[in-house]
Amino acid sequence: MDLLEGKTALIFGLANERSIAWGITQAMHREGAKIGISYAGEALERRVKPLAEQINCKWVEECDVTKDDQIAAVAEKAKRDFGQIDILVHSIAFAGREELTGPYYNTSREGFKNAMDISVFSFVALAKAFHPILRPGASLICMTYYGSVKVAPHYNVMGVAKAALESSTRYLAYDLGPEKIRVNAISAGPIRTLAAAGVGGFRDMYKHFADISPMRENITIEDVGNAAVFLASDLSARITGEVLYVDSGFNAVGVQMNPEAKSE
Ligand code: NAP
Repeated sequence: MDLLEGKTALIFGLANERSIAWGITQAMHREGAKIGISYAGEALERRVKPLAEQINCKWVEECDVTKDDQIAAVAEKAKRDFGQIDILVHSIAFAGREELTGPYYNTSREGFKNAMDISVFSFVALAKAFHPILRPGASLICMTYYGSVKVAPHYNVMGVAKAALESSTRYLAYDLGPEKIRVNAISAGPIRTLAAAGVGGFRDMYKHFADISPMRENITIEDVGNAAVFLASDLSARITGEVLYVDSGFNAVGVQMNPEAKSE
């Protein structure tokens, strides 16, 4: 399969081999896309560079998305090196550990601002910075979670941020639609990653998910990668402003029951 042959993809948010961004990177590489990778800070370089080498990717650029000058610099570098791009993946989120446990009303002003800035505004900022080099037919993809629409205990400010990210997806889809640029979100079920480890009670939630999702199994970064390929490819040419659930059907269930319970 060469679903992304001739396309160039920039992927933001690769931290290590467990990252959702790594599942997406591998799937897009498999489908023939030319890949560029961006990571957050120097400390990650020694983990990110070897991963990039595995797929023969030479374009590896640092970008802290809280810094306007770094976003501008990485967009400029992409313009110089690729000319135009077809796919931009935002797989970035952050909230302080103290915000991801206990009641939501304890969220601090600073914690709220930080979560919104890094997890939401950065997607808008990247869309703006890369807009001049997005080819018609380009696809922007961000990563969200069901805690945006229903309460996921401890997810707190990150749930509120994901709601804003999904809304931003729709507004960006509206803005960029006339240029045939599409914007979608993938809502992934829980996956054991660095970011997820910061969410209070994640381990129990992860197990509970496999017990009650219709398909009775957790999802993998490969599952997300394959869905991202679909959203990046011409197969999804008229799909924009959507949230695509990759969650073994978890979001379809309204009343959760122990699957072992007798039905009378
Ligand atoms: P991850 O591997 O820890 O990836 C999160 C990435 O965000 C890291 O590369 C992190 O870099 C980056 N980041 C944080 N602050 C940044 C900044 N200022 N500038 C640039 N990058 C920054 O975890 P992940 O689970 O794959 O998360 C990827 C996305 O999937 C996130 O949007 C997350 O909310 C979403 N998601 C995850 C799950 C799940 O269960 N894992 C489920 C649904 C959605 P640092 O490590 O340097 O902070």
